[in-house]
Amino acid sequence: MDDPVTTALTNLLHRLSPNHTGTVADYIPELASVDPNSLGAAMVSLHGDIYHAGDSETEFTIQSVSKPFVYALALSDLGLAAVTRHVGFEPSGEPFNAISLEPDTGRPANPLINAGAIVTTALVAGADRAEKFARIQATLFAFAGRELGVDEAVYASESATGDRNRALAYLTLSQGVLAGPVEEVTDTYFRQCALRVTAIDLAVMAATLANGGVNPVTKRSVIDAEIARITLSVMSTCGMYDASGEWMVQVGLPAKSGVGGGIVSALPGEFGIGVFSPRLDAGGNSVRGKAALHEMSQRFGLHVFTAPTGHRSPIAASDLHDEVLNVQLQGEVDFISAERIVRHLQEMAATYPLSRIDLDLTHVTTVQAAGSELLTATFTDLRSRDIAVRAISPDPSPLLELG
Ligand code: GLN
Repeated sequence: MDDPVTTALTNLLHRLSPNHTGTVADYIPELASVDPNSLGAAMVSLHGDIYHAGDSETEFTIQSVSKPFVYALALSDLGLAAVTRHVGFEPSGEPFNAISLEPDTGRPANPLINAGAIVTTALVAGADRAEKFARIQATLFAFAGRELGVDEAVYASESATGDRNRALAYLTLSQGVLAGPVEEVTDTYFRQCALRVTAIDLAVMAATLANGGVNPVTKRSVIDAEIARITLSVMSTCGMYDASGEWMVQVGLPAKSGVGGGIVSALPGEFGIGVFSPRLDAGGNSVRGKAALHEMSQRFGLHVFTAPTGHRSPIAASDLHDEVLNVQLQGEVDFISAERIVRHLQEMAATYPLSRIDLDLTHVTTVQAAGSELLTATFTDLRSRDIAVRAISPDPSPLLELG
C-alpha cells in the first residue's frame, strides 16, 4: 500500500493529466523530441524521505533549473560582493531570453534569466572550460546525490542554434562584465543546461537548499547555509521570469523553471519539490508543473507567508511550590521562543515571591545565539534580585551558562 504522501501526489497528477495546454519548446530543435505527455512529481523531506509519482524517474534536460545551483557555486567561489559586481539580484520582470542589462552598470540585473546566468557561469572558478564544467557538474551531482549525464544531442542542438545566447554574452562582454571568451562561456552554459535530471533529482536538489546546503539524502554538505539562503531568496524574486510576482502571490514558494519542463521548488526548513511536464506556457514555464505546485501549495498549505496559527509554546509546564518556580522548556530556543520564556519569568517574578527558578531543559532541542542572549540577560537580572536560576537537567547548550 502506498503511503499517504505518495497517494496525495498520485491523485494530484491524476487530476492534472487531462490538461494538454501549452507547447513543448522547439527553439532548441532537439527539445521537441521529448514525450509531451510526461508528467512526474517528487517531494523530499529534510529527513531524506523521497516520495514520488508519475514519470518521476524519466530523465529530461535541466535547462534553466541549473541556474540557481550554478549561482550558488559562483557565490561559494567568489562571495556575494564579487559576484554582484558582474550580475545583480533584482527581478528584471522580463522573459528568460531578454536583452536585459542595467543601463548604469551594464550588468544583467537578474541571475536567473539567460543574460545573468551566462555571466554567472563565467564566474565559476577553473583554469579552463573543461575544469569549469567539471566543477559545475560535480556541484550539481552533489546537490542531486547522484551522477548526472549530459544529453549530447540537446547540447549539440542548442550549440548549433544558440546565437541569441551568444549575442547576450557579447553584450555583457562589451559592458566588461563577462569574465571569459564568449565561445567558451556559452559552450559551458549549453553543456550545463543539457545535464539530464529526473523530478526526483530536482526534489533532492531543492531539499538541499531547503536544508541549509546539506543534502538530506547523502548527508553531504554541498554549500554553506548562508549561500543556500541567498539562492532561495533570489529564486523567490526572480525564479519564474516575468511571472515571478504572480508566482509569489499565488504559490508562495521559491522556485525555478526550465524550458525542458522541469520546475524546482523548496520550502525552507521543510522539504524540496521537483515537477516535470514538458508543455510550456507563453512565458516558458511548464503548464502542468506550475499547476502542480499551485495545487500543492493550496492543498498542503505551503505558502511561505502563511502565518502559522498556534505557534508551539516553548513552555511545556510551569509550577510554583514554596517560592520555587519549576519551568519545563521544550523545542528550539530561538529569539521568538526566548521572548516568550523571558516574559513568563519576568511576570512570575513580579507577581510572586521567588527564591529560585529551576529550568528543566530535557526537551530543549537547540539554543540559538539570539535566544541565549535574551535568556542570559534575564538570568543575570533575576540573580541580581536574589532569585537563583539553575538547570535541573543537563544543559544542552554551552550558550546558556547555567549553574
Ligand atoms: N538553455 C536554454 C536557453 O538558454 C535555457 C532556457 C530556459 O530553460 N528558460 O535558452
